[in-house]
Amino acid sequence: MKRRKRRINWRRFSLVLLFILVISIGYNRVEALIAGGGSKAVTGSPAVNGKELDGSGLTGETPSPAPEAATSSPPKATPTPTTDTGKAVPPSPSISPSQTPNADPSPSAQPDRQEEQTSPPPQGTGADEAGEEKRIALTFDDGPDLKWTPQILEILKERNIKATFFLVGKQAEAYPEMVQQIIDEGHLVGNHTWGHEKLTELNTKEVGHAIDRLSDLLFQITGQKISLFRAPYGAMSDKVQSVLDDKGYQLVGWTVDPRDWAGTSPDEMMNIVKKQAKPGGIVLMHSFGGKNSDLSNTVEFLPQLIDYLQEEGYTIVTVPELSP
Ligand SMILES: [Zn+2]
Repeated sequence: MKRRKRRINWRRFSLVLLFILVISIGYNRVEALIAGGGSKAVTGSPAVNGKELDGSGLTGETPSPAPEAATSSPPKATPTPTTDTGKAVPPSPSISPSQTPNADPSPSAQPDRQEEQTSPPPQGTGADEAGEEKRIALTFDDGPDLKWTPQILEILKERNIKATFFLVGKQAEAYPEMVQQIIDEGHLVGNHTWGHEKLTELNTKEVGHAIDRLSDLLFQITGQKISLFRAPYGAMSDKVQSVLDDKGYQLVGWTVDPRDWAGTSPDEMMNIVKKQAKPGGIVLMHSFGGKNSDLSNTVEFLPQLIDYLQEEGYTIVTVPELSP
């Protein structure tokens, strides 16, 4: 009996030791995770990150990237990541940082807070590495229309995906029923100016007007107050940023540009996505316009894109949902 008791005690003792060991290892791990993972920012709003031109056909200027980049005076300085060269410039990383010089940095996440008190918390990506859910957002610019927008909505509905549509005023005015359908089907809408103006070429008053006129219309149609904004061509300046700040808009850029507006083939778009997609990312596409007003490649690509992202473990969310 005595012997037995002793053995049992030893066993208990070693169990307790093991328990303590496990707890302390677990704790260290958690600490490491916290220390390592904490610094990603919110809303992949690399703000105007790649100053790409969100080509969009609206204006008809089937733009070769050159013009846009050139015109935006202030922003110009920044190394325009890519596009034109077709090379994949290091996708997201280079993107957001590069923008820093101009206005963009500040806005991102919560516009309302203080004016431009310099750099706010890092923007950018939401969930990430550390085992959290991988999220990515799909965005569609320049619509709505009656040709491509309905096809895109159909695909999204079939796959039960919610996206974010950055609408243009002239299109919304022409097709208010499509705006309503976008809302009814659970998507978000954002402001992409009234006439797809390059805001860096306008004075402050004109910038405000290009934005307000659309938000007023969207409010009339949907009853919603719009808080997301994307700059046509990604053209931003401090002046434009301060207008957005005053009005409480969150500037939304993109981190993945498959260049659908340029008539890029689905295969090429997939290659771009494979290089640029990251957790917290924002994919730029269009629901109107494009080269020769043809977005058939976008429509063909979209189901493949959704398949790919889901196979890679992404949850596809709206822009505000990027930052939990
Ligand atoms: Zn656009």
